[in-house]
Amino acid sequence: MDRFKVEEPMSQEKVNLNRRSLFASSAGGAVTAVLAGKLAGSENREGKPSGMKITNLKTYMFNVVTGPVRLDSNTGQPISSGFKTWLFLKLETNAGVSGWGEGSGEWISPIVETAIHGWKELLVGRDPLDVTAICDDITDRIPWKGGPIIGSAIAAVNMALYDIAGKSLDVPVHQLLGGRQRDRILIYDNGGLNFDSIDQARSQSRAAVESGARGLKGNPLEGRTWAMDRRELDHCVDIVRAVREDVGDDVELLLDTHGSPAPELSLAFAHAVSPYRPLFLEEPCKVGSVDVLKEISQKSPVPIATGEKLFAYRDFKEVIDARACAFLQPDISHCFGIDNFLDLSRVAEYAQMLMAPHNASGPIHFAALLQADAVVRNFLIQEVSGTWFRRFDEFIEHDFRLQEGFVNLPTRPGLGIEVKEKDIAKLPYDKAMTYRQYRHADGSWKGW
Ligand SMILES: [Mg+2]
Repeated sequence: MDRFKVEEPMSQEKVNLNRRSLFASSAGGAVTAVLAGKLAGSENREGKPSGMKITNLKTYMFNVVTGPVRLDSNTGQPISSGFKTWLFLKLETNAGVSGWGEGSGEWISPIVETAIHGWKELLVGRDPLDVTAICDDITDRIPWKGGPIIGSAIAAVNMALYDIAGKSLDVPVHQLLGGRQRDRILIYDNGGLNFDSIDQARSQSRAAVESGARGLKGNPLEGRTWAMDRRELDHCVDIVRAVREDVGDDVELLLDTHGSPAPELSLAFAHAVSPYRPLFLEEPCKVGSVDVLKEISQKSPVPIATGEKLFAYRDFKEVIDARACAFLQPDISHCFGIDNFLDLSRVAEYAQMLMAPHNASGPIHFAALLQADAVVRNFLIQEVSGTWFRRFDEFIEHDFRLQEGFVNLPTRPGLGIEVKEKDIAKLPYDKAMTYRQYRHADGSWKGW
C-alpha cells in the first residue's frame, strides 16, 4: 500500500487527526493502556503494548449462488457467473478475541487467499492493536505496492485488525476512526433497474422500492451489438424514461456501464438520458485513461462516477488531481482496506468530490463499509445488492435494517457482526468462477 502522501495545499495535519492517531497519540495510548490493564492486570502500563498477540489466522473461501447464468441475447455467451467466490479471514488472539475481514475477489479469491497465508509470519505474534502499523509493515516488505491481489489481501487483514480493536475496547469501529458523521447510511440497490425490457424494468424497480430502496441501479448499453449501437442506446433511454415515470421523482436512478463503452456512445447516452435526471453515470469508458474520463466528465450533463477498478492511493490520486469524475467509488475490499479508503475519502473531500463506495462482495465487506461510511464527511450514497442484503443472515448475525432508503449504523463492538463460522465452514468451494463474455456481434471484445 502506498503510504499516504499529502501535497500542499492538502493538510497532513487534518489527515493525522483521524484513526491513524488512535494508537499512537496520547489519547489512543491512554485507551490502549486501559485495555492493557484489563488484559494483564496492570493499572499502569500507559504507552506499552496491550499484551495481546495474534496467535493464528484462518481463511474460509466458498461459493455462493447468485442465480441462473444469464446469456447474452445476441451471442448466447454467459454474461453472469451464476455464483461468486467469497473469502473471509479470521485472526485469532491470545485474549480470546477474534477479528474478521473479507478479501473476496471473485475470480481471484484463491490467489488472494494464498497471499494472506504467505503473510502468516508477519502477523502471528504481533500486537493486533497496531492496526495500521501491521498493514503498513506488510506492504513495506513487498516491493510491488499496488493491484487487486495485494490490495484485497491487505484489506482483509486491515478489517480483521479493526474488528479485534473494536471488540477489545468494546466500541464500534467507527468510534476508533474519529466518530460518526451520520446516524444512518443512505443506500441504493444495484439490482433495482433492469434493462432487458420495459415491463421487466417496471416490475423490478417497483419491487426494489417496495423493499425499502430509494435508489436503483442497472447496467445500460450492455446489449449493444457494436461500438456505436444506437438501437441499444434508444432502448435504454426508453427504459430510464419509463422507470422515472413509474417510480416518480423521489427515487434516484443510477446507471453503470461497467467500464465498457466507447466514450462517444456514453456521451450520447448521457445527453439523451439527462432529462430523466439520473444521479450518476458510472464507469462510462474503459479504465486506463484519466484524460478520456476527464473529457467525458466535462462534456456529460450527468455526473460521472468511477473507482471500483482502482486500488492503491496512487491510482486514485491521478483521478482526484484531475477531478476527472464527480463521485469516487473505491472498493474497501480491494483498495487496501479501511485505512486507505478513509485516506482516499479525505483527499477527495479536499477536491470537493463525493464518495459512492463500490460494493459487490459479502457481509463482512458491507459491515466494514458501514463503519467507514459513518465517518466519511463527503459521503453521497452506498451501493448494496438488495438480494444479498436479504440473505446476509445466512452468513452472519447482524442488526442491519433497511428503512426509507437508509441502513442503520450498527453500534455493537468491532465491525458490529458475528460470523456464523460453523455455517460458512460447511459451504463448498467446488469449482472456479465462470469467466463472463462481453462480445459484439462480430465476436470482438466489448468490455469490461
Ligand atoms: Mg460498477
